[in-house]
Amino acid sequence: MILSSPHVHTQFCDGRSTAEEMVLSALSHGCRSLGFSSHARQNFAFHSAMSPEAETAYITEVRRLQKAYADKIRIWLGVELDSYSCADTAPYDYIIGSVHYLPDESGFVAIDGASEPLYALLKSFYKGDGIAMARDYYLAYGAMMRARKPQIGGHFDLLRKWNKACHLFDEDSPLYRQHALYALEAAYESGVILEVNTGGMARYGAESPYPAKWQLEAWHEMGGEVILASDCHYAPDLLSHYNDAVELLRKIGYEKVRVLGTDREMFEETELEPVQL
Ligand SMILES: [Zn+2]
Ligand SMILES: [Zn+2]
Repeated sequence: MILSSPHVHTQFCDGRSTAEEMVLSALSHGCRSLGFSSHARQNFAFHSAMSPEAETAYITEVRRLQKAYADKIRIWLGVELDSYSCADTAPYDYIIGSVHYLPDESGFVAIDGASEPLYALLKSFYKGDGIAMARDYYLAYGAMMRARKPQIGGHFDLLRKWNKACHLFDEDSPLYRQHALYALEAAYESGVILEVNTGGMARYGAESPYPAKWQLEAWHEMGGEVILASDCHYAPDLLSHYNDAVELLRKIGYEKVRVLGTDREMFEETELEPVQL
């Protein structure tokens, strides 16, 4: 199995490690490719995304690392684009398309920030109707897939992050599933590879990757392709919980997954096998 992650954050946005520390971690894990995906520039919540200066420095540094480590690992320059970002993605090899915010009357509430603002949004803006909140999330996700056609669909059901602690909505509700399926179909029709994102397991003790198992089952039934992604913010976590994702995907029926290419082709296919960490 070719090991890699296409979803990596560094100190150029909200990551803890430098880009070179990520490359060294990748080499120590036996990875043959690696993709950086800093948060694209956006005109709100500036702290979590790249500034114009950071973006210039990010591109320069990743290009330097590509050359410096060319004989050891294939490095790709990607970007994670939020659905409310208007950033120019022309400099990048690939885009991870994600929804991180829900709007209210006065601005944007982060879905994966603290629980209190999200809970307040549910109570005030949605009058406690969590399914309506989930509907807006998945509408934004589907629209993002269709409009920006990212190569990779990021953390498909991120809105689930606080659901266990805050009981925002019923994940078994048929209406919830209907809204999620709408976004899943939009992703499929847009030719997106869906990431199986283990970042929440590494960073805040999530019990399973994004997307939820039933969503991956539906995706598999559609014929959708997946890629393992760690949403890594700290170099030692580069392949964290990959074995959980491998086990889950094999149970669902996947035998092969996509992986960032080791040469010119951006996405190759690789067998799903247990990972030696
Ligand atoms: Zn994200
Ligand atoms: Zn990310």
